[in-house]
Amino acid sequence: MIRFGLDIGGTKIEIVAFNAEGESIYNQRIKTPDNYQNFVAAVYHLVCDAEKYLSCTGSVGIGIPGTICTHTGLVKNANCTFINGHDLKSDLQQKLDRDVFIANDANCFALSEAVDGAGSDGQVVFGVILGTGCGGGLVVNQQVLTGPNGISGEWGHNPLPGYSESSDGQEQQCYCGKRNCIERYISGTGLEMQYLQRFGQALPAAEIISGMQSGEMSCRLAYYQLVDQIARSFATIVNMIDPDVIVIGGGLSNVASLFDDIPKQLTRYVMDHECRTKILPAQYGDSSGVRGAAWLPVSR
Ligand SMILES: [Zn+2]
Repeated sequence: MIRFGLDIGGTKIEIVAFNAEGESIYNQRIKTPDNYQNFVAAVYHLVCDAEKYLSCTGSVGIGIPGTICTHTGLVKNANCTFINGHDLKSDLQQKLDRDVFIANDANCFALSEAVDGAGSDGQVVFGVILGTGCGGGLVVNQQVLTGPNGISGEWGHNPLPGYSESSDGQEQQCYCGKRNCIERYISGTGLEMQYLQRFGQALPAAEIISGMQSGEMSCRLAYYQLVDQIARSFATIVNMIDPDVIVIGGGLSNVASLFDDIPKQLTRYVMDHECRTKILPAQYGDSSGVRGAAWLPVSR
């Protein structure tokens, strides 16, 4: 049985085919089209070309940078905005003549890591992508947990726990309309914003991290503030759902020291001041989204 996973991004669409052993046997990337009709046609052709090349058909799972509204069935909150408001699932099912499974890309990330990645030993896995922004997904017994609002895992749009202006800086307006969302702090852009506020210098996140690694005081202060904010944010997850594993992906997951420093801080904030939840880097890195998308049809 071949499983196709597609990862939809603002700039590219990737398709990967996996065989029964979970090995990648085909992949293709194209530029993301700029309108809905061309987008549906592009997905259709990606699947058809893959099936022609492999001489077989397969299941189709798709990770999107948004979600399907459980009430209307239409895409919402996608940053490639031209798919918003469309019944993407129905349109693709009609075109491809089969069931098509669609989920938020952070949920796909979490599913991939829960099924056969860093969280495969755990029953309850929370996946977090700490990149430009921060996204989350919750997987229980290798199934993505969804709810009536289609926003499970969006803990990044809760207010930063324990916020104080003296240590966390000025209040931040989030694009979602709320103030002081976790995402505004524990992300690459959040780190840069805080560094700028605190030290008056615009420095890319990668340079703040390399500065921290070479012992520069301002970078170290910004980094340890980030660690503390991540720990406060993770403590709310641990106290609420007590996951076996929190898997971190995205650009910040390449910072190895986080996986020593976050657990130490986390024990300060969780109930009982003891925490057995593992904090691990993603096993499949950037491939987790497409891998998780391919797992969607079989994880239901
Ligand atoms: Zn927000």
